[in-house]
Amino acid sequence: MSRLRLILGDQLNINHSWFRERGADAADIIYVLMEIRSETDYVVHHAQKVLGIFAAMRGFANALRAAGFHVHYIRLGDADNQHHFINNLRELVNRFGISAIERQQADEYRVESLLLGASSELGIPVSCVDSEHFLADREKIAKKYADKIPRMEFFYRELRKQYRILLDENNQPIGGQWNFDQENRNRWKGDPAIPEWYALSADLTDIWQEIQSCGVHTMGDAQAANFPWPITRAQAKAWLKHFVENGLPNFGEFQDAMTTQSPRLFHAGISFALNIKLLHPLEVIHAALAEYEAGRVSISTVEGFVRQILGWREFVRAVYWARMPHYAELNELQHHRRLPRWYWDADTKMNCLHHAISQSLDGAYAHHIQRLMVTGNFALLAGCAPDEVDAWYLGIYIDAFEWVEMPNTRGMSQYADGGLVGSKPYAGSASYINKMSDYCKGCHYNHKRRHGEGACPFNSLYWHFHVRHAQRLARNPRIGMTYKLWGKMSEQEQTLTLTQAEIYLKKLDNL
Ligand code: FAD
Ligand code: SF4
Repeated sequence: MSRLRLILGDQLNINHSWFRERGADAADIIYVLMEIRSETDYVVHHAQKVLGIFAAMRGFANALRAAGFHVHYIRLGDADNQHHFINNLRELVNRFGISAIERQQADEYRVESLLLGASSELGIPVSCVDSEHFLADREKIAKKYADKIPRMEFFYRELRKQYRILLDENNQPIGGQWNFDQENRNRWKGDPAIPEWYALSADLTDIWQEIQSCGVHTMGDAQAANFPWPITRAQAKAWLKHFVENGLPNFGEFQDAMTTQSPRLFHAGISFALNIKLLHPLEVIHAALAEYEAGRVSISTVEGFVRQILGWREFVRAVYWARMPHYAELNELQHHRRLPRWYWDADTKMNCLHHAISQSLDGAYAHHIQRLMVTGNFALLAGCAPDEVDAWYLGIYIDAFEWVEMPNTRGMSQYADGGLVGSKPYAGSASYINKMSDYCKGCHYNHKRRHGEGACPFNSLYWHFHVRHAQRLARNPRIGMTYKLWGKMSEQEQTLTLTQAEIYLKKLDNL
């Protein structure tokens, strides 16, 4: 009788303790990976996301085989593929005489719930182990935050203390403060030069043809002949090294900057490799700390980078597991509009949105501020339904997995959780976008105008948003100033602004 170990597409962690087991005890283990339609079809994914995950899974299976493990791999196009975890497992249990199944904790609620029922469906024991990837213990945090979720800042400080990161001998933060965000907010004006991405170009045409011939519906450009993302651990490590040496030194200062000249500026582009577990968060943090210790990176930059991984990434996962499944239904602001049609083709005259969306369709990537302050901000101001916004973000980005996508989208960006992730809505007018980018220069709209000919839609929608949610938001001390400014505007100016917003809301698809 054999044991079956299931490896999901985002569990490609070769350093998991499973793979240290050798000898007689491990000889009867069959490792199983499967490409199935229930995973390709639960949302419309970007072509690069489906392709990247399948290519990485196939590479991982080959690496396991080369290391002597027994692997059974089900391809998308295999005739006997049942395209469902449980149905495929049932077939394998019979075929190989499997007496027990072992699995790693799934990161998505949808998959974890399904697999929790596997034992009773299959009639054999199914045990579960930790994925050994995250830095905060999921059960402990889900319990601890069941009633009250702390602000990210305090969650992050606790983890810094637990892992002794950037602390002096007295447990105090190196550099004298926990947070250097204030120093990390510059616009990029062409200097320093933006580094090239680490060059990768795998030819994945055969996998792409299989995906297409099976009829999987995707969005965006597959770039199958020249696939640019890391799909093996060796590639991911080389990519990380290239980033810490070339991008990290300027990461902090230009973290919030946006430009038409580069989709990524000084950002790492490591979220895909991290989320499918080719990289471990601690190794990423240590690679950044080594640059700081060598004197090549400032404290504000390294702290800003560590905060993203040890802070935000772990925090959003904590919120997700403390609040699912209820979290997926939250709609605090009662937003119900459809997402404008140009979110799927970038065909809008608004330059910032055109750029952020077209680069996402081309490359399955946008950096954090583009996601938050351009695409997310517009959907928030226009009052789009969180379900629609979630589905778009879950599909379009190569790094999108629900545990990290949903708290960022529904929580941080759409404020649909009423302030669990962020303490106020991330709503901004054109003045923020103009301050942090060069988008407004080439735009059809005028970033200075609130109403009238060519007025930037962000401006009137910004005020419309605040006026329609005044009851809920005006008492928030972090937004009070906005309402004071509104109060100082003449009645005529207020009316013209709100009327302009109404006009734009009626023709959202044609902006
Ligand atoms: P960098 O800016 O270089 O940051 C380094 C790493 O820090 C990232 O790779 C990521 O692992 C981590 N990180 C940074 N910010 C966050 C954050 N807010 N939450 C979690 N991790 C963070 N990230 C995803 O991994 N998957 C998603 O589906 C996703 N959806 C998002 C949706 C919205 C609306 C917003 C506002 C943010 C979303 N993020 C998501 C967070 C963030 O935008 C991406 O992690 C980041 O842009 C990935 O690019 P990078 O590797 O160049 O990041
Ligand atoms: Fe975006 Fe408005 Fe600037 Fe145009 S003017 S790029 S729409 S913020």
